[in-house]
Amino acid sequence: MGAADGPHTYDVAIIGAGVVGAAIARELSTYELRTVVLEAGHDVGTGTSKANTAIRHTGFDAKPGSLEAALLERAYPLLSDYAARTGIPLETPGALLVAWSSDQLARIDALRIQARANGCHDVQVVSTEGIYAAEPNLGPGALGGLAVPGEGIVCPFTMPLAFAIEAVTNGVQIELDTAVQSIERGAGAYELATSRGRVRARWVVNAAGLSSDLVDRMMGHERFTIHPRRGQLIVFDKLARPLVSSILLPVPTPVSKGVLIAPTVFGNVLLGPTAEELDDRTGTQTTRQGLDDLLAKGRTILPALVEEEVTATYAGLRAATEHSDYQIHCDPAQRYVCVGGIRSTGLSAAMGIAAHVADLLQDAGLVLRRAAVHREVRMRPIGESQRRLFRDHDAIAARPDYGEIVCFCERVTRGEVLDALVGPLPARSTDGLRRRTRAGLGRCQGFYCSATLSALLNDRREPPLAPSRHEDELVVSQTPRTR
Ligand SMILES: Cc1cc2nc3c(=O)[nH]c(=O)nc-3n(C[C@H](O)[C@H](O)[C@H](O)COP(=O)(O)OP(=O)(O)OC[C@H]3O[C@@H](n4cnc5c(N)ncnc54)[C@H](O)[C@@H]3O)c2cc1C
Repeated sequence: MGAADGPHTYDVAIIGAGVVGAAIARELSTYELRTVVLEAGHDVGTGTSKANTAIRHTGFDAKPGSLEAALLERAYPLLSDYAARTGIPLETPGALLVAWSSDQLARIDALRIQARANGCHDVQVVSTEGIYAAEPNLGPGALGGLAVPGEGIVCPFTMPLAFAIEAVTNGVQIELDTAVQSIERGAGAYELATSRGRVRARWVVNAAGLSSDLVDRMMGHERFTIHPRRGQLIVFDKLARPLVSSILLPVPTPVSKGVLIAPTVFGNVLLGPTAEELDDRTGTQTTRQGLDDLLAKGRTILPALVEEEVTATYAGLRAATEHSDYQIHCDPAQRYVCVGGIRSTGLSAAMGIAAHVADLLQDAGLVLRRAAVHREVRMRPIGESQRRLFRDHDAIAARPDYGEIVCFCERVTRGEVLDALVGPLPARSTDGLRRRTRAGLGRCQGFYCSATLSALLNDRREPPLAPSRHEDELVVSQTPRTR
């Protein structure tokens, strides 16, 4: 047995634990494989996956025939089922696409035809009267539009966490703080040099988001370059929620889906995103200009919204490339799948992408045998439409700390925070707690609860990452699954 076939040789190494890498890890965890996920960040889902508009797209406006359109369509029922089973907050208020000029109005019928070509047969043209009947707070000047009943809103934090926790529960190894720096092909496996030592794996899946082109180059390709496209967003207070019933979409342009207004699964209202071309892959700051532009657009669409209080602002970077479609490539001879350039719809398409990647791996020669046992996870209910623990009398009777609120803005209990600090993928920072529980996401942005959260975090702090045992080999913190 050569070194590459030794006990620490994984079948598959996935680079990146955003929503896409985590979805692939979950998918592969349903098979008899030894899989490792290598993530540069401190937690799962801390890249683009945590800073987006959180719309669950149907793909009605995707380019017909594109891979993006196909994978959005494939993902839609998968995510509906999965969210129901695992408790990922997902609502389907539908969208109203509004035309504000005669040019935009002239494109509505073409969009309806495009939607049908993409499998969205329930879209309907709406008259001016219909638009105002559905959304009476819209500003003056709406000329007509399209109703897209299947569009929804989802929790962008719970999604990658659910995928990753399920993957870990079923034997996948997730290594955080582990940036892949170079990849060398050995006799029977790859050697991935990481910031925490070497990892060997027979197959490599690149789900590195904004660095997916750089990882693709490590594998010897020059197929695309990421051109980060920043999107800034404004989160309005929950008092704004009654102003809007559905997701208010603009008529999309070839460059962007445009600025929208959408409710969130936490009961706020979002305005955004901008679309700004950047060179900086880390440029996630908001700007005065960007926020002013959003407020000006918001004033036209829903004038009363911009009078409401702002809870937070943030920005994310889309992994745009010179191509209009996802950059998913399989190189069977290399035992490599690149899953790059997942630009604006990755949250919605993640489960379709993961199923597609499994197909590609199998077609390329990786033997996929369903695992005899697969355990699913149930996430704690943090969506506004779910039965939250602070109002669940049975849960409080069994665990009184579910009745002890620590974050009053978002009604997060001490019990939920303690739960988030243990388990297969515990929070390791207040940011991690925010994404697992909502604590600190509300009106005061953690002003009142951050000291309590820090104290709970420090009390429960996990031991430091395991040091290397010998040479620079990465020490696995859990026993790889043996079958
Ligand atoms: C403003 C904005 C709005 C959006 N709105 C929506 C929306 O409404 N609906 C929707 O479906 N999609 C939306 N998207 C798109 C969606 O957020 C992305 O498509 C999705 O999050 C991409 O996920 P990912 O896993 O590919 O990338 P990421 O989440 O960025 O994950 C990639 C991971 O790879 C890691 N990584 C990178 N390099 C390395 C390395 N060398 N070694 C180890 N790890 C590495 C990173 O740390 C990161 O965690 C939006 C995006 C933006 C920016």
